[in-house]
Amino acid sequence: MTIQSVNHSIEQLKAYEMDKSNEELTREYGLGDIVKLASNENPTGCSPHVTLAITSKLGELSRYPDGAGQGLKQALADFLGCETKQIVLGNGSNELLNNITASFADGDDVIVYSQYAFSDYELASLGISERTQQVAAKNFAHDLPAMLETVNQTANCKMVIITNPNNPTGTVLAKDDLIKFIKKVPSEVLVVIDEAYIEFAPTLSCVDLTQEYDNVIVLRSFSKAYGLAALRIGYAVSSASIAEILNYTRQSFNTSTLAHAAATAAIKDQHFINQYLAFNHEQKQALYDGLDSLGVVYVKSATNFVMVNVGDGMDIYQSLIEQGVVVRPMVGYGLPAWIRVSVGLPEEINRFLDTLAQVLS
Ligand SMILES: *Cc1c(COP(=O)(O)O)cnc(C)c1O
Repeated sequence: MTIQSVNHSIEQLKAYEMDKSNEELTREYGLGDIVKLASNENPTGCSPHVTLAITSKLGELSRYPDGAGQGLKQALADFLGCETKQIVLGNGSNELLNNITASFADGDDVIVYSQYAFSDYELASLGISERTQQVAAKNFAHDLPAMLETVNQTANCKMVIITNPNNPTGTVLAKDDLIKFIKKVPSEVLVVIDEAYIEFAPTLSCVDLTQEYDNVIVLRSFSKAYGLAALRIGYAVSSASIAEILNYTRQSFNTSTLAHAAATAAIKDQHFINQYLAFNHEQKQALYDGLDSLGVVYVKSATNFVMVNVGDGMDIYQSLIEQGVVVRPMVGYGLPAWIRVSVGLPEEINRFLDTLAQVLS
């Protein structure tokens, strides 16, 4: 059957390659113990306060959630030093990305982002507009001066998306450079800053700039450092006027009672985050050391994942998965030599390094 009525900008979309579930992997490869290092999740789990908070809500599952998520928004406003009317909650920050492009971009508006930026920007843009503009990266990082030039020279440029720290390369942009950039972007162009990994580089956050610049939207996620990927909860911080529009266009009950309770407990447990950051720092060093002794090239990362040059990324990805080690091939990003590996537990890193040594030889 052909579906002829599909929005034809959607035809350009390549299907997003979903992670295989452990069940599927077991069926396909007959594997016992599977190590998943493909999605940059927190390998240590989440704060114990989260588990308690969720348990306390189990009697409320038959009721709709608080559609405004007021309790969580208040906790976030206290944590960030902003007002609750600047915050919009999303079913993961990805939902907000879709909501932002759908709310602000029209058919012939152009959305600008960097080469080697998060694959979902294409997904979020292409259903809306056929016109995205990728700007060449420099040393695997965003080239902000080149992005500024593209924004200024592109008629109908509606939005520019920046990822800091960047996924999949792990690179960061200096806050001073971001401030300079935002100052020079025309005020009618939205600057969306995806801070899914900002917990790993907190001084670079641009949340404070939303007080001064009405066109800045910062996206945050509980899926990575906070360890709540399964619950699908993220948020946007912006001027109150943008938040009001995003609140009109979102679904009334887009985030759940359990997610509200979990995220509220999580944001209040910064001790957990600090412990995890120290753990991640140590394990990332162990991963670097192992890669160094294998003599493979990698990009130094500010985050909880590392991009590694293995010669033929797809081939090595396939060989690793056959041994029960799941990483992310980078060919879809135009980086066919590379794979991305998340910083896991010590035994997971060792298993990855041992298996990599074996498949490379
Ligand atoms: C994981 C990730 C997200 C999405 O996170 P969710 O909150 O789980 O939707 C957004 N941006 C980047 C760069 C990510 O890596």
